[in-house]
Amino acid sequence: MTRKGNPQLVVLSAPSGAGKTTICKKLVERNPDFRISVSATTRPPRPGEVNGVDYYFISPEEFQQKIARGEFLEYENVHGNYYGTLRETVEELLDNGFTVLFDIDVNGALKIKQQYPDAILIFIRPPSLEELKRRLRKRKTEKPEEIEKRLQRLPEEYQKAVFFDYEVVNDDLLRTLLTIEKIIRTKQLTGTHVHQ
Ligand code: ADP
Ligand code: 5GP
Repeated sequence: MTRKGNPQLVVLSAPSGAGKTTICKKLVERNPDFRISVSATTRPPRPGEVNGVDYYFISPEEFQQKIARGEFLEYENVHGNYYGTLRETVEELLDNGFTVLFDIDVNGALKIKQQYPDAILIFIRPPSLEELKRRLRKRKTEKPEEIEKRLQRLPEEYQKAVFFDYEVVNDDLLRTLLTIEKIIRTKQLTGTHVHQ
Protein backbone atom coordinates (compact mmCIF):
# COMPACT_ATOMS: atom_id res chain seq x y z
CA MET A 1 0.00 0.00 0.00
CA THR A 2 1.37 3.45 -0.89
CA ARG A 3 0.55 6.02 1.76
CA LYS A 4 -0.68 9.54 1.01
CA GLY A 5 2.25 11.66 -0.27
CA ASN A 6 4.39 8.52 -0.83
CA PRO A 7 6.51 9.15 2.29
CA GLN A 8 10.02 7.71 2.35
CA LEU A 9 12.24 6.42 5.14
CA VAL A 10 15.70 7.96 4.83
CA VAL A 11 18.50 6.84 7.12
CA LEU A 12 21.54 9.11 7.40
CA SER A 13 24.56 7.61 9.14
CA ALA A 14 28.04 9.05 9.46
CA PRO A 15 31.03 9.18 11.73
CA SER A 16 30.34 11.57 14.60
CA GLY A 17 31.21 15.09 13.48
CA ALA A 18 30.70 14.53 9.74
CA GLY A 19 27.64 16.78 9.81
CA LYS A 20 24.50 14.64 9.86
CA THR A 21 22.66 16.62 12.55
CA THR A 22 23.29 19.82 10.58
CA ILE A 23 22.16 18.11 7.37
CA CYS A 24 18.96 16.70 8.93
CA LYS A 25 17.98 20.08 10.39
CA LYS A 26 18.53 21.86 7.06
CA LEU A 27 16.63 19.19 5.12
CA VAL A 28 13.61 19.65 7.41
CA GLU A 29 13.80 23.46 7.06
CA ARG A 30 13.90 23.22 3.27
CA ASN A 31 11.28 20.46 2.82
CA PRO A 32 7.97 20.88 4.65
CA ASP A 33 7.08 17.21 4.08
CA PHE A 34 10.21 15.95 5.90
CA ARG A 35 10.42 15.23 9.64
CA ILE A 36 13.19 13.83 11.86
CA SER A 37 12.53 10.69 13.90
CA VAL A 38 13.32 11.85 17.46
CA SER A 39 15.14 9.01 19.26
CA ALA A 40 15.27 8.21 22.96
CA THR A 41 18.66 8.22 24.66
CA THR A 42 20.30 7.76 28.05
CA ARG A 43 23.00 10.33 27.10
CA PRO A 44 22.76 13.59 29.06
CA PRO A 45 21.66 16.62 27.01
CA ARG A 46 24.35 18.88 25.54
CA PRO A 47 24.00 22.61 26.14
CA GLY A 48 21.12 23.88 24.01
CA GLU A 49 19.56 20.46 23.38
CA VAL A 50 15.84 20.28 24.09
CA ASN A 51 13.92 17.25 25.39
CA GLY A 52 11.45 16.02 22.76
CA VAL A 53 13.17 18.00 19.99
CA ASP A 54 16.74 16.69 19.83
CA TYR A 55 16.08 13.49 21.78
CA TYR A 56 13.81 12.13 24.47
CA PHE A 57 16.30 12.14 27.33
CA ILE A 58 15.40 9.22 29.61
CA SER A 59 17.02 7.25 32.42
CA PRO A 60 18.65 3.83 31.88
CA GLU A 61 15.69 2.29 33.83
CA GLU A 62 13.11 3.89 31.52
CA PHE A 63 15.13 2.75 28.52
CA GLN A 64 15.11 -0.86 29.77
CA GLN A 65 11.34 -0.68 30.29
CA LYS A 66 10.84 0.51 26.72
CA ILE A 67 12.99 -2.38 25.45
CA ALA A 68 10.89 -4.84 27.47
CA ARG A 69 7.64 -3.38 26.10
CA GLY A 70 8.92 -3.65 22.51
CA GLU A 71 8.67 0.10 21.93
CA PHE A 72 11.86 0.32 19.85
CA LEU A 73 12.22 -0.47 16.14
CA GLU A 74 15.92 -0.76 16.93
CA TYR A 75 18.30 0.31 19.68
CA GLU A 76 22.07 0.37 20.15
CA ASN A 77 24.73 1.16 22.68
CA VAL A 78 26.84 3.84 20.98
CA HIS A 79 29.90 5.42 22.66
CA GLY A 80 28.67 4.02 26.03
CA ASN A 81 25.09 5.34 25.91
CA TYR A 82 21.85 3.77 24.73
CA TYR A 83 19.96 5.20 21.74
CA GLY A 84 16.70 3.87 20.28
CA THR A 85 14.21 4.58 17.50
CA LEU A 86 10.62 4.69 18.73
CA ARG A 87 8.20 2.59 16.66
CA GLU A 88 5.20 4.81 17.46
CA THR A 89 6.98 8.02 16.38
CA VAL A 90 7.86 6.56 12.99
CA GLU A 91 4.44 5.01 12.27
CA GLU A 92 2.65 8.22 13.22
CA LEU A 93 4.83 10.33 10.90
CA LEU A 94 4.34 7.89 8.00
CA ASP A 95 0.56 7.80 8.60
CA ASN A 96 0.56 11.59 8.29
CA GLY A 97 2.42 11.45 4.97
CA PHE A 98 5.79 12.71 6.24
CA THR A 99 9.10 11.49 4.86
CA VAL A 100 11.05 10.38 7.94
CA LEU A 101 14.75 11.15 8.38
CA PHE A 102 16.78 9.03 10.81
CA ASP A 103 20.04 10.32 12.27
CA ILE A 104 21.23 6.97 13.63
CA ASP A 105 24.36 4.84 13.72
CA VAL A 106 25.37 2.27 11.08
CA ASN A 107 24.05 -0.76 13.02
CA GLY A 108 20.68 0.92 13.58
CA ALA A 109 20.55 1.80 9.88
CA LEU A 110 20.96 -1.85 8.85
CA LYS A 111 18.24 -2.93 11.32
CA ILE A 112 15.82 -0.35 9.85
CA LYS A 113 16.56 -1.73 6.37
CA GLN A 114 15.67 -5.26 7.57
CA GLN A 115 12.29 -4.06 8.74
CA TYR A 116 11.64 -1.57 5.93
CA PRO A 117 13.47 -2.90 2.83
CA ASP A 118 12.39 0.19 0.88
CA ALA A 119 14.26 2.53 3.26
CA ILE A 120 16.99 4.64 1.62
CA LEU A 121 20.35 4.30 3.41
CA ILE A 122 22.76 7.21 2.92
CA PHE A 123 26.26 7.19 4.41
CA ILE A 124 27.71 10.67 4.92
CA ARG A 125 31.49 10.92 4.67
CA PRO A 126 33.64 13.81 5.86
CA PRO A 127 35.97 15.18 3.17
CA SER A 128 38.98 13.88 5.15
CA LEU A 129 40.03 12.61 8.57
CA GLU A 130 41.67 15.97 9.30
CA GLU A 131 38.48 17.85 8.49
CA LEU A 132 36.45 15.44 10.65
CA LYS A 133 38.75 16.12 13.62
CA ARG A 134 38.53 19.87 12.95
CA ARG A 135 34.72 19.74 12.95
CA LEU A 136 34.61 17.71 16.15
CA ARG A 137 36.91 20.18 17.91
CA LYS A 138 35.04 23.19 16.51
CA ARG A 139 31.74 21.85 17.87
CA LYS A 140 33.21 22.06 21.40
CA THR A 141 30.60 19.64 22.80
CA GLU A 142 32.94 16.77 23.74
CA LYS A 143 36.09 16.57 25.83
CA PRO A 144 39.24 15.29 24.03
CA GLU A 145 38.74 11.75 25.45
CA GLU A 146 35.14 11.73 24.20
CA ILE A 147 36.36 12.80 20.74
CA GLU A 148 38.90 9.96 20.83
CA LYS A 149 36.11 7.46 21.65
CA ARG A 150 34.17 8.71 18.61
CA LEU A 151 37.20 8.41 16.32
CA GLN A 152 37.85 4.84 17.48
CA ARG A 153 34.54 3.80 15.97
CA LEU A 154 35.54 4.92 12.46
CA PRO A 155 36.79 1.53 11.12
CA GLU A 156 33.51 -0.21 12.06
CA GLU A 157 31.49 2.58 10.48
CA TYR A 158 33.47 2.58 7.24
CA GLN A 159 33.20 -1.23 7.02
CA LYS A 160 29.43 -1.09 7.21
CA ALA A 161 29.13 1.81 4.76
CA VAL A 162 29.43 -0.70 1.90
CA PHE A 163 25.90 -1.96 2.71
CA PHE A 164 24.40 1.50 2.20
CA ASP A 165 22.56 2.56 -0.97
CA TYR A 166 24.56 5.80 -1.29
CA GLU A 167 27.67 7.53 -0.02
CA VAL A 168 27.73 11.33 -0.04
CA VAL A 169 30.80 13.40 0.86
CA ASN A 170 29.74 16.35 3.01
CA ASP A 171 32.18 18.95 1.70
CA ASP A 172 30.02 21.87 0.57
CA LEU A 173 26.83 21.76 2.68
CA LEU A 174 24.46 23.07 0.00
CA ARG A 175 25.75 20.55 -2.51
CA THR A 176 25.20 17.77 0.02
CA LEU A 177 21.62 18.92 0.62
CA LEU A 178 20.84 19.07 -3.12
CA THR A 179 22.31 15.59 -3.67
CA ILE A 180 20.23 14.07 -0.87
CA GLU A 181 17.06 15.84 -2.00
CA LYS A 182 17.55 14.49 -5.52
CA ILE A 183 17.97 10.94 -4.19
CA ILE A 184 14.77 11.19 -2.14
CA ARG A 185 12.62 12.89 -4.79
CA THR A 186 13.73 10.41 -7.48
CA LYS A 187 12.77 7.47 -5.29
CA GLN A 188 9.48 9.10 -4.38
CA LEU A 189 8.51 9.88 -7.99
CA THR A 190 9.90 6.89 -9.87
CA GLY A 191 10.49 4.23 -7.21
CA THR A 192 14.06 3.86 -8.44
CA HIS A 193 17.53 4.87 -7.29
CA VAL A 194 19.71 7.65 -8.67
CA HIS A 195 22.83 6.41 -10.46
CA GLN A 196 25.94 7.90 -8.88
P1 ADP B 1 27.20 14.98 13.51
O1 ADP B 1 25.74 15.14 13.79
O2 ADP B 1 27.46 14.13 12.30
O3 ADP B 1 27.99 14.51 14.70
P2 ADP B 1 27.24 17.93 13.32
O4 ADP B 1 26.08 18.19 12.44
O5 ADP B 1 27.12 18.26 14.79
O6 ADP B 1 27.80 16.44 13.13
O7 ADP B 1 28.48 18.76 12.70
C1 ADP B 1 29.76 18.82 13.32
C2 ADP B 1 30.37 20.22 13.09
O8 ADP B 1 30.69 20.38 11.69
C3 ADP B 1 29.40 21.35 13.43
O9 ADP B 1 30.14 22.39 14.05
C4 ADP B 1 28.86 21.80 12.06
O10 ADP B 1 28.50 23.16 12.06
C5 ADP B 1 30.03 21.52 11.13
N1 ADP B 1 29.63 21.18 9.74
C6 ADP B 1 28.63 20.38 9.32
N2 ADP B 1 28.58 20.29 7.96
C7 ADP B 1 29.62 21.05 7.50
C8 ADP B 1 30.12 21.37 6.19
N3 ADP B 1 29.57 20.87 5.06
N4 ADP B 1 31.19 22.18 6.10
C9 ADP B 1 31.78 22.67 7.23
N5 ADP B 1 31.36 22.43 8.51
C10 ADP B 1 30.30 21.61 8.64
P1 5GP C 1 25.15 11.89 19.58
O1 5GP C 1 25.43 11.51 20.99
O2 5GP C 1 26.35 12.55 18.91
O3 5GP C 1 23.87 12.68 19.42
O4 5GP C 1 24.90 10.53 18.78
C1 5GP C 1 25.85 9.49 18.83
C2 5GP C 1 25.51 8.46 17.76
O5 5GP C 1 24.29 7.79 18.08
C3 5GP C 1 25.34 9.06 16.36
O6 5GP C 1 26.01 8.19 15.43
C4 5GP C 1 23.85 9.00 16.17
O7 5GP C 1 23.51 8.92 14.80
C5 5GP C 1 23.50 7.72 16.90
N1 5GP C 1 22.07 7.62 17.24
C6 5GP C 1 21.23 8.61 17.63
N2 5GP C 1 19.99 8.12 17.82
C7 5GP C 1 20.03 6.80 17.53
C8 5GP C 1 19.05 5.74 17.52
O8 5GP C 1 17.87 5.91 17.82
N3 5GP C 1 19.49 4.50 17.18
C9 5GP C 1 20.78 4.25 16.84
N4 5GP C 1 21.08 3.01 16.48
N5 5GP C 1 21.73 5.22 16.83
C10 5GP C 1 21.36 6.47 17.18
